[in-house]
Amino acid sequence: MPRTLHTAWNKLRSHPQLWYTLFVALVIAGAFFVVVYRFSNIAQDAEERVQQVRAGSLLEVFTVLLPDSGAINPLYASIKMKEISELDKTVLSFDIVKENSDGKLVVFASSDSTRIGSEYRNASLSFALAKSDITNAYTTQHVLNNDRYFKTVRAVKDSRGLVNTYIVVDQSLSQADVVIEGAIRNSMYLFSLMLIGVMILFLRHARTIDYISLYKRLKEVDTLKDDFISMASHELRTPLTTIRGYAEFLNESKGLSGKEKEYVSAIDTSAQRLDYLVSDMLDVSRIEQGRMSFNYTEVVPENIVNEIVESLRGNAVKKNLSLSVQIKDSKIIRVDEVRLRQVLVNIIGNSIKYTREGSVSVGLYTENKEQVIHVSDTGIGISKDAQEHLFEKFYRVKNKYTSEVVGTGLGLWITKQIIEHMHGSIQIESIENVGTHTKIRFPIYLNKK
Ligand code: ADP
Repeated sequence: MPRTLHTAWNKLRSHPQLWYTLFVALVIAGAFFVVVYRFSNIAQDAEERVQQVRAGSLLEVFTVLLPDSGAINPLYASIKMKEISELDKTVLSFDIVKENSDGKLVVFASSDSTRIGSEYRNASLSFALAKSDITNAYTTQHVLNNDRYFKTVRAVKDSRGLVNTYIVVDQSLSQADVVIEGAIRNSMYLFSLMLIGVMILFLRHARTIDYISLYKRLKEVDTLKDDFISMASHELRTPLTTIRGYAEFLNESKGLSGKEKEYVSAIDTSAQRLDYLVSDMLDVSRIEQGRMSFNYTEVVPENIVNEIVESLRGNAVKKNLSLSVQIKDSKIIRVDEVRLRQVLVNIIGNSIKYTREGSVSVGLYTENKEQVIHVSDTGIGISKDAQEHLFEKFYRVKNKYTSEVVGTGLGLWITKQIIEHMHGSIQIESIENVGTHTKIRFPIYLNKK
């Protein structure tokens, strides 16, 4: 427990905003407590007042019925008073008290007839007050065996105008006390529940604050990682260019044996793989950090498509694939020309890479105010499951054929980001062992001038 308290204290110290939450939570709980306390007091006051009024009314009725106590039979009066007190469970006793010539108070009639003739000793102040003002009843509060009760006294004038008779009612307050205590107990249960609720909310809020700081840390680490990748990729670029340059230089020199040429070309292939990886990593970090620049111009897609197809023809020829272009309709689009080339190299390049035999064809047509660039191949295709992951970073389909093909699994992710940045879209449909269709769409540029 002290450990938990210690942790909570440390958390409060390191997150000043938690103080505010704690303060608000305590103010709400405190306000609830004060309201409950006030209302229970008001309810108690109201209940007591009702009892006093009832006692007052009872005495008033009796005052009228008691014109001259001398004419009343005390036993008969006692029976009636007992009946009345039985009607009201709060009435403990009901007495008519007379002051005799010695100034002593003697019970004349009572709901408890055994008390007739006994001296009435208590509450002389109430009697004095009642005597001084016979138009009002006087109520005082007393405690007997831990139970509160009200004593209400009213003085009555006899036919000769003398004030020596009193009507006294003792009323128990325990019934009212039980009701009020029950109400307070229920409110306290509610208050405890509320406190628990507030504490749960407070702990949840504290946890949210933890998540916020964790998120901030993660973002920092992520930025650090991006910076590191970007820096490392840049640093790798120069030595790689040097290695590839020397490999090419060696390859062209005459004195190399067949075996040596093989070694040099292995060096070049490996360096090329690294080169692809480095440039893809650089693109990823540029895109993620929002640093990839786009220089928009009006571009005729037909020209670019033809140019890229020609630059890749050598790769297709090496694999005995037919590579063709069908231009149905080519409209101007507004994109970054260099990025469009990059996209086409990747998509047409993939079709050549992942096709063992048959053809790769590129088509241009328009549809719904969009320029469509359509690349289809008769290659190995992509399974339904794999199609769902195609645009994820580093995703490569794993099978016997793809393991022999050089790739980073970053090309389609980069391609999609670039196309969408240029307000276009990409869609790939494929059937395993049949072939793949890729459709890239860009809005046709409408010159509004
Ligand atoms: P890679 O560098 O591996 O080619 P890409 O992101 O360009 O990475 O492609 C992801 C994966 O999608 C590839 O590894 C390949 O398995 C699959 N793929 C992409 N294009 C084709 C295609 N035209 N035919 C079959 N598979 C393809």
